[in-house]
Amino acid sequence: MGKWTVEEVARNAQGNLIGNSDLEVAGCIIDSRQAQGGEMFFALVGERVDGHDYMEAVWKKGAILVIAEEARFQGPEKTPFVPDGKALLLVKSVFATLQKLAQAWRLELGAKVVGITGSNGKTTTKDMIAVVLSQRFQVYHNKENHNNELGLPLTILNAPLGTEILVLEMGMRGLGEIRALCDIAKPDVGVITNIGTTHLELLKSQERIAQAKWELVEALPEDGIAIINAEDFFSVQKAKKDVHSIQFYGVEGNLVEPNTKGAKLRPWGALGTTFDVSYMGEKSTANLPLPGKHNVLDALAALTVGKVLGVSLAEGCAGLAKLELSKMRLEVRYGIFGTTLINDVYNANPISMQASLQVLKERAGGNKTLAILGEMYELGTSAESGHREVGETLAKLGVSELITVGKLAEEIAQGARLAGFSEEHITVTSIREEAVAKAKDLLNLHGPGIWVLIKGSRGMKMEEITVQLEESE
Ligand code: ATP
Ligand code: MG
Repeated sequence: MGKWTVEEVARNAQGNLIGNSDLEVAGCIIDSRQAQGGEMFFALVGERVDGHDYMEAVWKKGAILVIAEEARFQGPEKTPFVPDGKALLLVKSVFATLQKLAQAWRLELGAKVVGITGSNGKTTTKDMIAVVLSQRFQVYHNKENHNNELGLPLTILNAPLGTEILVLEMGMRGLGEIRALCDIAKPDVGVITNIGTTHLELLKSQERIAQAKWELVEALPEDGIAIINAEDFFSVQKAKKDVHSIQFYGVEGNLVEPNTKGAKLRPWGALGTTFDVSYMGEKSTANLPLPGKHNVLDALAALTVGKVLGVSLAEGCAGLAKLELSKMRLEVRYGIFGTTLINDVYNANPISMQASLQVLKERAGGNKTLAILGEMYELGTSAESGHREVGETLAKLGVSELITVGKLAEEIAQGARLAGFSEEHITVTSIREEAVAKAKDLLNLHGPGIWVLIKGSRGMKMEEITVQLEESE
């Protein structure tokens, strides 16, 4: 922020203001512990925590304005106490006010907005888009994975004056959710990374998943531009029937025009990739500090956003080389028992697990490989087939050893067996310590040079296996 005074906030929120009013608001928080000075604090009511219990604490820590529910302060004995120099804004719904203010700030800011959704690679693509656009513009983007009905408005409200482009990841679990986020964010450019198989518990079929994601394209204005993965079946189907202006991206093959084309992928450094890129006659070469075709696709999406908003391919490629990687996503650790270990424990679904297995095999070259794989959650009725598919891929790729962790992950082992993977190279367990012990045996047996991949859903806490391996060395 950095422009609205307390009074302007009150006017935009149409709430009842008590206390000081001409101070400028310096930022926006929903967690009282984050107060540093000058913020407005939204007293949200969560499942476990009620923001109204922290009003005094947050004022004490320096926040100047608290936004609270008026119903809490009705009746004479409930008159709120507002410290000197501080302010309280009473509204009907704090949650609705957060969204309403974000909507108003987005319009006042006048920045272009890029929205990103998809089954995989939203955060990765968001970070790539931000580095590409930062080559030319003042860019503000969501932190980490703040992509829902709270994270998105908070990100918008914290965008400083002078922001030229806002880059916003949009997560979803069902129909209507992306539409609601777009009502607040009003994107000018929409990117759909892919339409995969996550969240089947809530969305019964692929068609509906595709529809739910396509809400981003439908929310674009007439002159808006959709940026679509030309290798994603459902996206291409939806694009055929859409009236918006669409730019496609993909790696070689038969691309639909107009497109951004990646070609000649080759290793760069430990896990990086070099590739050539072309866009309507313009050409450049990118050094991406990430492995695998899936990351190249995300980078092509980012370069396309750059082109659409005025960043040349050469500038965009220079930006990509500066990409800083988030923790736990395809992080490489060397030396644990002499191995090269790919710690990709942040999350998993069948698409991303197969992508990571591909990377493991590609980079290990002729070396032995060990995959330690945990369960993948939220696959609904395709839980069994999703796990088996991973097993099948792993067998086809020729991974040397497999350890599965958790009951559902046994289906990975089963998928591998059915695809001809030898039983003597499979270990199935639900106990983390057993997985660690077996992994140590295998690392000692095969000696240095072996490559290891550790991956599973967030709830599996697969990072604890990495830590235990590290500590037991
Ligand atoms: P979330 O739904 O948790 O926010 P996300 O869509 O933001 O996930 P990322 O966090 O960027 O996705 O990446 C998650 C996993 O997907 C990583 O393991 C990454 O390697 C893999 N991944 C990234 N891009 C792609 C892609 N285009 N296709 C398939 N897998 C991908
Ligand atoms: Mg994300």
